[in-house]
Amino acid sequence: MTARIGNTGAASSSVALAMDWGGTWARAAVIDRQGAILWQDRVSNRPGAFQDQLVETAGRLLVTAKEWAGLRPIAGVGIALAGSIDAASDMLLSSPNLPALNGVSLPARWEPKLGVPVWVGNDANLAALGEYSYGAGRPARPGDPVARTLVFLTFSTGVGAGIVDRGTVFTGAAGVAGEVGHMTIDSRADAPPCACGNSGCLESLASGTAIGRAAQARLADATPGSPLHQAHEANATLDGAAVFAAAAQGDPVAREVIDAAVGAIVVGLGNVLNIFNPDVVVMGGGVTQGLLDLGLLGHIEDATRRRAMSSGHRAFRLAPATFGDSQGLIGAASLVWVETGS
Ligand SMILES: [Zn+2]
Repeated sequence: MTARIGNTGAASSSVALAMDWGGTWARAAVIDRQGAILWQDRVSNRPGAFQDQLVETAGRLLVTAKEWAGLRPIAGVGIALAGSIDAASDMLLSSPNLPALNGVSLPARWEPKLGVPVWVGNDANLAALGEYSYGAGRPARPGDPVARTLVFLTFSTGVGAGIVDRGTVFTGAAGVAGEVGHMTIDSRADAPPCACGNSGCLESLASGTAIGRAAQARLADATPGSPLHQAHEANATLDGAAVFAAAAQGDPVAREVIDAAVGAIVVGLGNVLNIFNPDVVVMGGGVTQGLLDLGLLGHIEDATRRRAMSSGHRAFRLAPATFGDSQGLIGAASLVWVETGS
């Protein structure tokens, strides 16, 4: 990516610096109050790098972002990371994508260097905040109310989630609330195991990984030469995207596997309605894109509504996620505006 360095910019309106730090890339952006990405760039995490090296490389990218912002006032820096963050100290307690970062406090490391406040949040929580501030939480039509309670779920390799109520992320006592992907849907002893150590979680039934694994287990039921078999022969293994592609070609076994995942999603979302009473539920991630391509989101919304226990719980809308790959950056910028009260 190329970007012009040293843009002196308009001095009038303040901007947020945002970082989305994943397992492969640290992405940074300069984002205005309206949620527009003015500049972005990324650096790769060097495989095997120690904590200090990772923090130094990503910190340099933020310095570059600050230089690009030029004369625009910088309200602060928001960082989105997978994992759990201690609410009191901002210390990263566990970082599944970047275990070398465990125990680091990014505000302590970067505030002296950047000269502006730094805040850190869980990437799914911040994606929820970004949707609330700039995406599905905004009125669907002029005159509609803004969202009050928004639950965001991303169905990809795993299932991440975040809950925002009246502009505030619901974090729980230790900062780790909202793990909707790890609610138990199937309590039978032989339910599929989950990466969290439990079994029968929503993630173990409806993530891309789970859908691929379920299709793999059903291969013997598929007709030789069927789209599912062809996908398996081409790649030796099946992932969620391959199962959705086979279902789109009319493969009946692939479709049954997806219908089972949809059943789990509907039970999970029904629980979400009854517990959190959201007016907006947002679904993102590759599995959601597959469900959209098959035209299943409307069915999921209707079936979920049938599980709601009262008219107050039924009054919600289901929306696809708005920002694609930029959801972490938009969410990280939203955190800056929330923390500065602007
Ligand atoms: Zn789990």
